[in-house]
Amino acid sequence: MKIAIIGGGAAGVIAAITAKRLNKKLHVDIFDINKAIGKKILASGNGRCNISNTKITQENYFGENPSFINQALKEFDFKAFENFCKSIGLILDIKDSCKVYPLSNEAKSVVTLLENELDRLEINQILQTKIVDIQKLDEKFNLISVENKEFNGYDRVLISSGLQAAPQLNSTEDGIDIATKFNHTFNPTYPSLVGLHTQFDYKNKLQGVKKEATVTLYIDKQKDKQITGDVLFTKYGVSGFAILDISQYAVYPLSLYQDVTISINLFPTLTRNELLGILQTLFKTLAKSDAVEALTGIIPIKLAVVLLQMNNIDINAKADSINAKQQRAIINTLTNLRLKIEDTQGFKHAEASGGGIRTDEVDNKTYESKLCKNLFFAGEVLDIVGNRGGFNLHFAWASGFLAGKNLAKL
Ligand SMILES: Cc1cc2nc3c(=O)[nH]c(=O)nc-3n(C[C@H](O)[C@H](O)[C@H](O)COP(=O)(O)OP(=O)(O)OC[C@H]3O[C@@H](n4cnc5c(N)ncnc54)[C@H](O)[C@@H]3O)c2cc1C
Repeated sequence: MKIAIIGGGAAGVIAAITAKRLNKKLHVDIFDINKAIGKKILASGNGRCNISNTKITQENYFGENPSFINQALKEFDFKAFENFCKSIGLILDIKDSCKVYPLSNEAKSVVTLLENELDRLEINQILQTKIVDIQKLDEKFNLISVENKEFNGYDRVLISSGLQAAPQLNSTEDGIDIATKFNHTFNPTYPSLVGLHTQFDYKNKLQGVKKEATVTLYIDKQKDKQITGDVLFTKYGVSGFAILDISQYAVYPLSLYQDVTISINLFPTLTRNELLGILQTLFKTLAKSDAVEALTGIIPIKLAVVLLQMNNIDINAKADSINAKQQRAIINTLTNLRLKIEDTQGFKHAEASGGGIRTDEVDNKTYESKLCKNLFFAGEVLDIVGNRGGFNLHFAWASGFLAGKNLAKL
């Protein structure tokens, strides 16, 4: 039996390995545009590869139908993944009590060990080959590359070509185009886990300021989600882990032109009164100093300057000249900095893509298409996207594993 896998990312590679381990007689070809498999694995986790998570539940995933993933998570939970890793010689390390990395701390070792296993199993890698079309004739699939080269006679095909996030790594939406030829439909794709563009006059002045904060998202003025973590002010708006996480909830309403606003509380562990007390003490201690200098006791100097400007206070004002009303205004800005979100940083800077092939057209036990026999899907090309923290790679591994098992079935 001849199997073609379009896309040598996490999903495609684990599918190939799983299928070939179950049936040594299979002929398996993995096609990829890049010179080598696993380009996105290499880029993940800033080169360290946050490869999975020990606490995975459906709540970490989004899409039209997130419960689609439950079967894959049941059959291929963290333990199963750990065993797979051991079988290729990869030892894992758990950080922050749930995030999983290779013990080597290097994404490169993950890709090298996967490549070695592909070689051991004699799985062919047909690289620098962009598949743009599939034709099904007499129960056989023929793949056609962008150069019009044909690869004929496949009994089963897996589309694991991902989506558009990080197009600089040759990411494409070709999988969607190919699937639509077999009557599949898809939900519109959007960049996820991505920085947000804000409408804010002081963007340039705050560039580089980073602080742990609580970010609250408002959609059409209704409170939606709250996340605590790093916020980084940038020249386009905001980034940092709290923002990447909250972007997951902001991007879809943005695409519908809803009003999207965030409120940043830069002192989430203090009450407003506690913060006011600290501020008043500082202003008393440094009464004859510039208010900016006094404020640097609690915030970065760039933020101190902007804080005064935003509240129409002279930046050369002395600490003891800041009256009670101005103090309250400062506290309000520090605990409820409201920013209107205008856009995202786009696919180029996104860690993942939302949207994709509609999951109700795919069997969640086998990952086979319900519309075309012997056509399978796995990974990000499907309308499932996860939170930051190893969830996207875990879905790629888990869905690829299930697809691989069923690709091998006689
Ligand atoms: C910068 C960055 C950091 C990330 N960090 C993390 C992280 O730490 N943890 C985490 O869980 N997730 C992370 N992600 C997300 C994660 O990498 C992806 O969700 C996951 O790799 C998707 O796997 P996949 O196999 O479905 O798709 P992909 O990895 O995208 O693989 C698809 C493959 O198909 C190939 N391809 C595409 N079109 C064609 C075609 N027409 N013909 C042939 N080949 C084709 C591509 O070259 C690619 O190799 C990160 C993503 C990025 C961009």
